[in-house]
This record gives sequence, C-alpha cells and structure tokens, in this order.
Amino acid sequence: MNVLVVGGAGYIGSHCVRRLLAAGHRAVVLDDLSLGHASAVPDGTPLVRAGMDDASAVRETVRLHGIEAVFHFAALANVGESVREPERYHAHNVVKTHALLAALEAAGVRKFVFSSTCAVYGVPPRVPISEDMPRVPVNPYGRTKLEVELSLEDAARAGRLAFAALRYFNAAGAAADGSTGEDHEPETHLIPLAIGAALGRRPPLTVFGTDYPTPDGTCLRDYVHVDDLADAHVAALARLDRPGVGLALNLGTGRPHSVREVIASVERVGGRPVPHAFGPRREGDPPALFADATRARAELGWAPRHVGLDDIVSSAWRWHISRPR
Ligand code: UDP
Repeated sequence: MNVLVVGGAGYIGSHCVRRLLAAGHRAVVLDDLSLGHASAVPDGTPLVRAGMDDASAVRETVRLHGIEAVFHFAALANVGESVREPERYHAHNVVKTHALLAALEAAGVRKFVFSSTCAVYGVPPRVPISEDMPRVPVNPYGRTKLEVELSLEDAARAGRLAFAALRYFNAAGAAADGSTGEDHEPETHLIPLAIGAALGRRPPLTVFGTDYPTPDGTCLRDYVHVDDLADAHVAALARLDRPGVGLALNLGTGRPHSVREVIASVERVGGRPVPHAFGPRREGDPPALFADATRARAELGWAPRHVGLDDIVSSAWRWHISRPR
C-alpha cells in the first residue's frame, strides 16, 4: 500500500516508516519539521515539508503518490505544556487534524490510523485498563486525542472512512539498528532523562512522588517498545478494508514498572548510577496505568516482542550513547 505518514519525521512516526518499508509498503512522509527531524526519514523516502492543514499539499501528495492510507502522528504531546497552553493544543491537535481529515476525504483516502493514547482514560477505575473503560481524560492533551477519536467514530458511522485509534501506553526504546530513537527537546520522559542523568548529559533525575499507593511508592507505567507500536500500525492496515470499520486498541505490554524499577534498569544496563533525588508528585500523574491489550491481540494478532524492561531500556541506552550529545 502507499501510505502517507503525517508526522513521519518524529519519534514514533519514523519507526513506523521503517516498518512499513520492511513490510513491503511504500511510505511518504508529510511533516512540518517543527518537532521532527529530516534526518529521521530514511533515504529514498519522499519528505513533503508542509503542515497537515495545508490542504493543497495534502491533495497534491495523495495524487502524486497514489496514497491509499494515512498514519497520523503529528501532535503536540507534552501533558504539562497542554495544561499551560490548552488553546495551542486544541488548535494543533484537533483543528489541524480536522483540516487533514477534510482534505483526505476530498482526495478519496478512506483508511486512517490514528496515534492515540492511554491518556484518554484519565484516572481509570481499575487496572489493567481495557478499551471499554470510560474515557475521561484529565488534561488538555488527553482531551484533544479524545476529540479526534470521537470525530473518527462519527465519520466511520457515516460510512466515510475506516479507522484504527491506537492507544499507546508509554512509548519507549529505539530501533535495534540504532537508526532512530527518542530525540525530544525539551525532554520530559522518564527513560531518556534517566539515561541522560547516568551519562552526565542531563541534571540528576527528580523522582516525582514516593507516596503513591504502589508497592514502592512510585508511579507504575507500562513501557512499550516503539518497534512493537510500529508493528501494530502496519497490522492495522489490513483491517481497514471497508468504510465503517472503527477499531480502538490499547497497545501496551500489560506489565507495570515503577519509577524506581526504571532507574534500577538503567543502572543495570548502563553499568553506572543514575544520580537522582526525590521530589513531590507531578500534577496530573495517576498512580498506575497499564494495559489490558487482549483486544489488540484478538483484532491484529499483535503481541509485543519486547516485554522485558531491560530489553527496552538497553535499546534506548545504545541509541543515546551512539549520539554525540
Ligand atoms: N517521572 C519522574 N521524573 C521525571 C519524569 C517522569 O519521576 O523527570 C515519572 C512520572 O511521574 C511518571 C513516569 O515517570 O510516573 C513516566 O513519566 P513520563 O513523563 O515518561 O510518561 P507519562 O506516563 O507521563 O506519559
């Protein structure tokens, strides 16, 4: 299939481009490079530098490359920032996505895979989280993703498209061949910050809260390898065979790991200490988030191949040490 990857120069998008190519599909990247990196797009893969709301660029790209399906990753994805700047998050994640959807509809593209998040659940009533739990996001970021999910559901019900909303838990890790990894600035995520601290490239890590109702008092999260996320996107393509299909799937390993366990893993993998201090809770952090991913297994035949925390952390470690800074 010819797949347009919107936001394909970013962390998860660029891994998906590689997976598409490995599976025999063709990929075209559309990215405004505001957060992504042109260097993350593989040689030979066309890169259209344009905003997703640039209808003429979208239309022309679809026509030129015979685009049949879209993966959509382009989003602002920093929870704290979304609390401070909700309007910007809404304008970017919702309004621009609606413009993209309108341009795709006009161009006759009917298959859409959406990068969603476990943040749509907010603070779940229990864990593990299954897809039928209420979607009550607790921050603007999660609300923008929910709004797009609802729009996709409406469009699918109206018979206009087929979609899969893939709700990632904590995306982590880097490509096995070292070609791509997590490269955000500013960085807010635990694993790159812990590795940066261990390498002396970043300040000591602050552990956000040690008084949670969890076994060691720190938050539990479900870290899922970015290559496993990419596999699910490629598998979802085959399910979007007729307008009206609407899939919502959790992508996680189902294994919770605490912040202290992540620090211990980085220390084991890297063979050096992670300088860290203990601080107060970060606002809006639920104590425990981990997936029940049985639906993704049933619908896509998907199961994560990287299930050990050390495995995921060591791929990230290799990526970070291979970089100058
Ligand atoms: N965390 C932390 N210190 C940091 C960054 C994150 O203790 O500097 C914790 C955070 O409170 C959460 C976990 O690490 O419990 C994962 O946070 P991250 O920002 O990586 O992902 P999120 O779960 O917010 O999507």
